[in-house]
Amino acid sequence: MGKPTGFIEFSRGKPPSRPVTERIGDYRHVYQAYPIEDLTRQAARCMDCGIPFCHQGCPLGNLIPDWNDLVYKNNWRAAIERLHQTNNFPEFTGLLCPAPCEGSCVLGINKDPVTIKSIELSIVDRAFAEGWIVPEPPVTRTWKKVAVIGSGPAGLAAAAQLNRAGHSVTVFEKSDRVGGLLRYGIPEFKMEKRVLDRRLDLMTAEGVAFRTRMNVGDDVSAEDLRRDFDAILLAGGAGHPRDLNVPGRQLRGVHFAMEFLTQQNRRCQGDDANVESGFPVPRSLGEGGSRIEPITAAGKHVIIIGGGDTGADCLGTVHRQGAASVSQLELLPTPPKQRADDNPWPLWPNIFRTSSAHEEGGDRVYAVATTELTGDASGHVRTLHGHKVSRVVTNGRSSFEPLPGSEFEMKADLVLLAMGFVGPEKSRMLTDLDVHLNDRGTVARDEQWMTNVPGVFAAGDMQRGQSLIVWAIDDGRRAAAAIDQFLSAS
Ligand SMILES: Cc1cc2nc3c(=O)[nH]c(=O)nc-3n(C[C@H](O)[C@H](O)[C@H](O)COP(=O)(O)OP(=O)(O)OC[C@H]3O[C@@H](n4cnc5c(N)ncnc54)[C@H](O)[C@@H]3O)c2cc1C
Ligand code: SF4
Repeated sequence: MGKPTGFIEFSRGKPPSRPVTERIGDYRHVYQAYPIEDLTRQAARCMDCGIPFCHQGCPLGNLIPDWNDLVYKNNWRAAIERLHQTNNFPEFTGLLCPAPCEGSCVLGINKDPVTIKSIELSIVDRAFAEGWIVPEPPVTRTWKKVAVIGSGPAGLAAAAQLNRAGHSVTVFEKSDRVGGLLRYGIPEFKMEKRVLDRRLDLMTAEGVAFRTRMNVGDDVSAEDLRRDFDAILLAGGAGHPRDLNVPGRQLRGVHFAMEFLTQQNRRCQGDDANVESGFPVPRSLGEGGSRIEPITAAGKHVIIIGGGDTGADCLGTVHRQGAASVSQLELLPTPPKQRADDNPWPLWPNIFRTSSAHEEGGDRVYAVATTELTGDASGHVRTLHGHKVSRVVTNGRSSFEPLPGSEFEMKADLVLLAMGFVGPEKSRMLTDLDVHLNDRGTVARDEQWMTNVPGVFAAGDMQRGQSLIVWAIDDGRRAAAAIDQFLSAS
C-alpha cells in the first residue's frame, strides 16, 4: 500500500478531456493523458484491501492493488509486467471498459472508487512510450495448427496466447480489416484505430497470420479448415441486431446502428464508406452490387432508438457529422442517481450515467415506445410516432403498458436502431460445422470451451451473447488454455 492515508487525503479525479466545442470538430480521442503527479495521487487512494473486491469485479482478475502500489512507487516497468500477466490488451480495456472493477472497489462503499481504469491506461501508454512493449515470439514451435475464426477481442486474445504457447495460429476474418467491433463498432473518438493497429503489428511480428476477406463457410469451407488445422476456435461475435417491428420500418433513412457506425469508421480510416467492408451487418436498404447507400446525419433531425452504449456511440458520431437535432429514446425509465436498495455494493451500479457523447448534446427521452414511422411521397422517413409507457413487473418479468393520452410525434429524417443484438448470425459456417446452439441462440460449449464437434471451440460473444471487451478477452484466454491442453494431449 503506497500511502496509508491516501484515500482520506485525496478525492477521485477524472482524466482531462478536450472541450466539447473542439472535440466535436474531429474524431480524435475525447480524453487526454492523465498528468503523472495527479495520477500518482489517484493510485495512492488504493487501500490494498485484505479482500480486494476489485479482483472479483474484474472478469480478468487483474492484479489491481499491485499495480496501484507500483505506480505510486514510480515502478512503471514492473506495473506493465503485472498488468500483462492477466490482460493481453490493457490499452483496449483502459480506453473502453466500463470498469466493473470500480463498481466493486471497497472504497466505493462510502466514497468514490479508485480510478482504476485511468491508472491501467496510463501504465500501458507509458510502457509503449518507453519502448518496453516489444514482440515476444515463442522460443520454440509445436507446429500444431490452430484456426481462429473472427478477429474481435476474443479471437485476438486467443491468438496471442496460443501463438506464445508455440502453436501456429491463423486468424480468418470476413471483413476487409482485422479487429471486429474494435474496428467497425467502436468510434474513433473512443479508441483511435492506431491503438488497435499498434497491437496488431506486434502480433504479426510475433508470428500470428491474419487472413482478411475470408468468410469461413463461403471463401473457405469448414471442411477444409477441419482437414488443415488441429483445432478451430469460433470467435465470430454476436452481430445479429434486434429489429424494430413497427409499420414504416422499411422506409429509407431507417438503419441499424452498426450500418451507420461501420461507414463512419471506414471514412475515418480513409476507406470508401460506400464500398462493402464485409463486416457482418444486415443491411436495411440500398443493396446494389458492391456499392452501398451512404448514411449521414449532416443537417438532419436524427432519432436514435435505444438508450445504451451503442446508442451513445451513434450520438457522438451524429454530433460530429453536424445533425440539426438528435434525440435518444429509451423504453426503460430514467435510472436512479444513486444505487437503489436492491442494487447494493459490490454489484454493478445501475445508475444514471453521462458519457462523453451525452456531454456533447442531444436529448434523452426515457419510458417511451415507438409505434410507427411515416414518410414522404418519395418513401423517406420523416416522422416518428410513439407514446409514453409505464413499466409493470410481474414475477420478476418486465412489461410496458402504454400511458393513455401520451401519444407524441417527432421529426425524423434519420432513424438509427440501437436496440441490442439477439445473437450470432446463423451463418453457413455454423451449419456446415454442425455445431449446436443453446436456448439463447448462441453457440453451446462445455466447460473445456469445446462445442459438440471435437476439436472445435468457441469464445467471446459467439457463445456468451453481446457483452463486453473485457469478457471477450477473458474468454479468449480461457479458450486458448483449453485448446493448448487439447493439443498437448493429442
Ligand atoms: C457499437 C458498439 C460499441 C461497443 N462499445 C463497447 C465498449 O466501449 N466497451 C466494451 O467493453 N464493449 C463494447 N461493445 C461490446 C464489445 O465490442 C463486444 O462485446 C466484443 O467486441 C465481442 O468480441 P468478440 O471477439 O466476441 O466479437 P466481435 O468483436 O464481434 O468480432 C467478431 C468477428 O468475427 C468475424 N466473423 C464472423 N463470422 C465470420 C466468418 N464466418 N468468417 C470469418 N470471420 C467471421 C466478424 O467479421 C467480426 O470481425 C460494443 C459493441 C458495439 C456493437
Ligand atoms: S477494492 Fe479498491 S481500494 Fe481495495 S484494493 Fe481494489 S482498488 Fe484498491
